[in-house]
Amino acid sequence: MEGLIMNYPLTTTTILEYGNSVYHHKKIITYLPDGTRQEYRFGDLYKRCKKLANALTLKLGITKGDMVGTFAWNHAPHVELYYGISGVGAICHPINIRLTSDQTEYIINNSEDRVIFVDATLVPLLEKIAPLLETVECYVLINAPKDFKTSLLITIHYEDLLEEQSEHFEWPTLNENDASGMCYTSGTTGLPKGVLYSHRSTYLHASNIISPNAGNYSNLDTILLIVPQFHVMAWGFPYLCLLSGSNMVLPSSNLQPDVLIKILQEEQVTKANGVPTIWLGVYDAMKKNPPKEKLALEEYIVGGSALPKSLIEGFEKDFGIKGVQAWGMTETSPLGTVSRLQSLHTHLSDNEKLNIRAKQGTAFPGVELRIMTDEGTLAPADGKTMGELQIKGAWVINSYFKTNNQDGFTQDGWFKTGDVSTIDKDGYMEIKDRTKDLIKSGGEWISSVALESALMAHPKIKEAAVIAIADEKWIEKPLASIVLVNEKDTISDSELIEFLSRDFVKYQIPRDYVYINEVPKTSVGKLDKKEIRRLFAEGKLS
Ligand code: ADP
Repeated sequence: MEGLIMNYPLTTTTILEYGNSVYHHKKIITYLPDGTRQEYRFGDLYKRCKKLANALTLKLGITKGDMVGTFAWNHAPHVELYYGISGVGAICHPINIRLTSDQTEYIINNSEDRVIFVDATLVPLLEKIAPLLETVECYVLINAPKDFKTSLLITIHYEDLLEEQSEHFEWPTLNENDASGMCYTSGTTGLPKGVLYSHRSTYLHASNIISPNAGNYSNLDTILLIVPQFHVMAWGFPYLCLLSGSNMVLPSSNLQPDVLIKILQEEQVTKANGVPTIWLGVYDAMKKNPPKEKLALEEYIVGGSALPKSLIEGFEKDFGIKGVQAWGMTETSPLGTVSRLQSLHTHLSDNEKLNIRAKQGTAFPGVELRIMTDEGTLAPADGKTMGELQIKGAWVINSYFKTNNQDGFTQDGWFKTGDVSTIDKDGYMEIKDRTKDLIKSGGEWISSVALESALMAHPKIKEAAVIAIADEKWIEKPLASIVLVNEKDTISDSELIEFLSRDFVKYQIPRDYVYINEVPKTSVGKLDKKEIRRLFAEGKLS
């Protein structure tokens, strides 16, 4: 027997409607790339989203299921795009601005974006590839001066697009399982893959994060969204702020530690998100130049890479600010776990508490975790047995965009994360290693496989193996171990950096090179990265 309850669709439009009806007075503050501050209210956001919806449908001819790209920093128009595009039934596709031109070109062609909304400051990145983009009919320029010059063919200014439009728009009734957004993951080898979020998954993810056991956000908060909107929908924060009634502060490209500290102070920010590299930078800057008044900041939530214990300790001891660790992936919307202490931990020592907070944490309600050993058995919840972390839940992917293959999923429907973890008796998961051949530097992925094949294209190089090594600022950075064709040859680091800069963007290029006689191999002849890491840890690679 079915329950006798309304079938009320959980959509991004219901989030927008709620934010407007209950929290129309709450603020959205933007710091533009040139430092200018702009402020308006959720009520203004609502009206502008309706204007945008009219523009998308009437002027740009966008219809249900169309893909609309964004290439932009965090700012109010980008939030309008999240709600406006999804609200008309189209799919909002934020494109990572930090990828190589080849990857960006592939992603735009693969997703079939019809229109791209692009920040004026980012236009040069698209100009380079525009002739190769097969489906883009028009570019909408955000925050561009009137006399802005570009080689992009068909352009219109965002404000001009909205200007003549009515503030009245009848949102279409959408199915909550319809796609609302899309982000791409970086592949180890091969091409990036699209993850298509639904309205329902977006709604459930955002409403879960608000809970006191998770992000703990309410209408008393002002939240600084440091995680870019082109990174897994800014971890759902543009949605959860409307549900929780938290003021939203958007820094666009103002991500330098000193500027972030100034924004934290000026806006009395109480909570913020970001990858560890950002918070390491903010902490160092605060140590060097301690703020005169205690910041209003109570907590920062970190994900994307492990939150170092020393940072949790330092921030709390020196400035009374709490670090909260979360774990997630593009494929999991992204948040899957969060680490907070519970009543059962009250009696523990400070150090034991710190050890728990430094774990990746417990699953959100609506998501399940399990660890499978190499033998294919379920690992016991003993905090020791390692295995592959697998996940299922209401906001976890079940297939990649445009692929039917089930690589990456188990036969019984769990998603294989490629992370190697343990889980303890209380359900706290801890990441120990990863099976995917990727390096995560400052929150962005670098494919070791792509670097290896590029290096091996150098005439003096016979073999190359790239591993991740620890770095204080970037958490991880690439180290390339190289076997030369002719042992007597030499190559300078700068020559290699120059050679790689043809195919890689700056942050992806290794600065550390070691020369070896032979790359260790596994029994089946694959590069033995575990062995290379061991040699490096023992100081035998230099
Ligand atoms: P995101 O943009 O959220 O970082 P990605 O899909 O690019 O998502 O990366 C997901 C991967 O990042 C995870 O599988 C894991 O390897 C790593 N990761 C994410 N959060 C953490 C964390 N708190 N600690 C350690 N690794 C993490």
